[in-house]
Amino acid sequence: MNLNETSNRPYEECGVFGVWGVPDAAALTALGLHALQHRGQEAAGIVSYDGERFHQHKGLGLVGEVFGDSRVIASLPGPVAIGHNRYATTGGTHVRNVQPLYADYEFGGLSVAHNGNLTNSATLKQALVKRGCIFQSMTDTEVFIHLIAISLYSNVLDRFLDAVKQVKGAYSLITLTPNDGLIGMRDPLGVRPLVLGRLPGHEVGNGGWVLSSETCALDIIGAEYVRDIEPGEVVVIDETGIRSLHPFGDQGARFCVFEHIYFARPDSVLEHVPVYEARKKIGAELALESGVEADVVVPVPDSGVPSAVGYAAQSNIPFELGIIRNHYVGRTFIEPTDQIRNLGVKMKHSANRAVLAGKRVILVDDSIVRGTTSRKIVDMVRAAGATEVHMRITSPPTKHPCFYGIDTPEESKLMAATHTVEEMAKAIGVESLAFVSFDGLYRALGHNGRAEGATRYCDACFTGDYPISLVDKEGNLVH
Ligand code: SF4
Repeated sequence: MNLNETSNRPYEECGVFGVWGVPDAAALTALGLHALQHRGQEAAGIVSYDGERFHQHKGLGLVGEVFGDSRVIASLPGPVAIGHNRYATTGGTHVRNVQPLYADYEFGGLSVAHNGNLTNSATLKQALVKRGCIFQSMTDTEVFIHLIAISLYSNVLDRFLDAVKQVKGAYSLITLTPNDGLIGMRDPLGVRPLVLGRLPGHEVGNGGWVLSSETCALDIIGAEYVRDIEPGEVVVIDETGIRSLHPFGDQGARFCVFEHIYFARPDSVLEHVPVYEARKKIGAELALESGVEADVVVPVPDSGVPSAVGYAAQSNIPFELGIIRNHYVGRTFIEPTDQIRNLGVKMKHSANRAVLAGKRVILVDDSIVRGTTSRKIVDMVRAAGATEVHMRITSPPTKHPCFYGIDTPEESKLMAATHTVEEMAKAIGVESLAFVSFDGLYRALGHNGRAEGATRYCDACFTGDYPISLVDKEGNLVH
């Protein structure tokens, strides 16, 4: 099943986490992955290195399911480990696609965990297969494994740099090698996040370094945030210290703006901006731009909550939890039929009749993708007695697919690509519908409106302005 065929919301692809120079590195990595669970729930894996041998464990399911047994963690000894949460946008859900990937080379073992999408992976794969490379998985990550294998450079770091110079895309990488330590990297424009942290008390022997997709995973293990890895930066951590390389020079920065709107956990700090505060400010901007008379402001949980807090505060309309989310149901997007998907929404969200009956309701949500989920939520709110429903969306209209690691349907299935805002309002059954403006969005992120923000962020799914070339798409290669 192609997940793009069924998803009603955009979904993040993967979280990565790595620890250097700490006893029980695998246990800390499991905790880090648990904090990054929102970035991928289909599979999880950890590879550790004990100074002589690599050890790995991977499985389908949540981190708690894969690593809940203490014997599993005990089977991953060593002071260094990397881990990965998977949400499959390429390759489907099979254990062979679960990361980190590991390979034996002439120079020893190497393991890679990767978040994002390569836009030339099909092109590279075609060339590699012609050269005789045999792929064992369907993931983009394996392209790195083969590019490192065929590189003519002698040391691992040079081979790694040779490989990353051949790929195009939006990605963060953590690589574990026996001789060159832990290598972390963000793509040249820094579209996907990666932060550096340090666990206090492990400085002897240069230990205690942590790499993570988000800061929320530093907090769970008591690590201090040091800094964001810069766009295009490669950091190499070993017992001699930490080195920073910039093999791509300065190409600017285009961080994924949707991380702020929806993907990241609200207690994370992205690019020095606290996600919770940014979402509150987006809600306040929405209230200023498209205020409407109403009795209650109701978030569509969970990602709509901070923005609804901001909207309510700005508009002086009470914030109420009019929709309750059941956290213990499976995700609706894996269900195959429309009928089951409809049931899924009802299983996941319930209307709080006591809050909604007889009220004019402002619903705050992060995005409208296909519109089907929005319609069901609106119907549910009306069935609970709401007299008016106004929807406010904390992103601009999603008109284009993402090719940089976020699972979105193809363009023809995106409601905003084929409908005007008025048509969308009619289709989802609301009295009014408004999206935050680009100016409002970028003001909320601390920039001087759209002109400044658009030069610092990727917002291609709203604008169609793709900052990284779409090599496979242009070559008509299936990605
Ligand atoms: S296209 Fe959208 S979701 Fe994808 S990286 Fe850019 S802003 Fe993020």
